[in-house]
Amino acid sequence: MTNRRNIIKFLATGSAAAGIPVWLPSRALAQSGNSGDLQSLNNSLGMISGNGGNILVKKAGNNELLVVDGGLAGNARALRRQIELSLDTRRFATLINTHWHPEQTGLNLELGNRNTRIFAHENTRQWLGTSVKRLWEDHTIDPLPESARPNEGFYHYGDFMHGSERVEYGYLRQSHTDGDMYVFFTADNVLHTGGTVSSDGWPFMDWWTGGWIGGIADGMDILLDIANDDTVIVPASGPVINRAQLAEMRDMYDEIFSSVRRLFSAASTTGETVAAKPAAAWEDRYGNADEFINLAHWSLIAHLSPDA
Ligand SMILES: [Zn+2]
Repeated sequence: MTNRRNIIKFLATGSAAAGIPVWLPSRALAQSGNSGDLQSLNNSLGMISGNGGNILVKKAGNNELLVVDGGLAGNARALRRQIELSLDTRRFATLINTHWHPEQTGLNLELGNRNTRIFAHENTRQWLGTSVKRLWEDHTIDPLPESARPNEGFYHYGDFMHGSERVEYGYLRQSHTDGDMYVFFTADNVLHTGGTVSSDGWPFMDWWTGGWIGGIADGMDILLDIANDDTVIVPASGPVINRAQLAEMRDMYDEIFSSVRRLFSAASTTGETVAAKPAAAWEDRYGNADEFINLAHWSLIAHLSPDA
């Protein structure tokens, strides 16, 4: 199902069907450039895609904004302008980074000097304060300037009020990285999954900063406990999905984990594990999985020992 069709479906069943969407295009917005498609999930919660990842924006009754993830730095200024013009407010109260990757943290540079609360898991805060040079890449990702790093962190889970809505958040342990978190808009019943879920292809298995293939299904189990059949589930990238689709995805990753673990434990090399095609059954749907399986194999090194 396409993203747009999903959104229209939710619009038809959600509160926006009766309300007035706040996402009115304006001439100013048309002239400001566009940092990604902007769609309304209901009359006060919007999703912006196409800028590296899925961004959620919520405007409270007091005009304060809560933004989940911020896309790539190159589009951050256009994104900020797009949000300001669409929602007619500049009050960026809270920005959440669901993990440390550049696709999530570009807006930090725009909001770092504006008294915005920038919130993330403690491990995400750490990664954003250091250089990252992954073993298999030839470039280094620089730390964010101090003013752009998260200024508030957490370890386990909790909640806070955004206007009159309670927002819950929690740690997804080691899955995509070691700092993944979800954000749940309780009144809207919208769940941003962070990097643990992507619906448009295989995830980047970032074992260098603590992710591992065994943690993906575990993280999805946490998300499945939160969601109900009506929850709109917003992945880090790709179209929104529902709980049944997430459950199906969880089982797929569990099966792939079992296969890769079996190969790893039998002392297969990375190349042998990739050649065994443990994700072949799903490649029609998600594309060639070789790179994902390669990194998934590597990710086991910190967790399992091959049989001698
Ligand atoms: Zn990521």
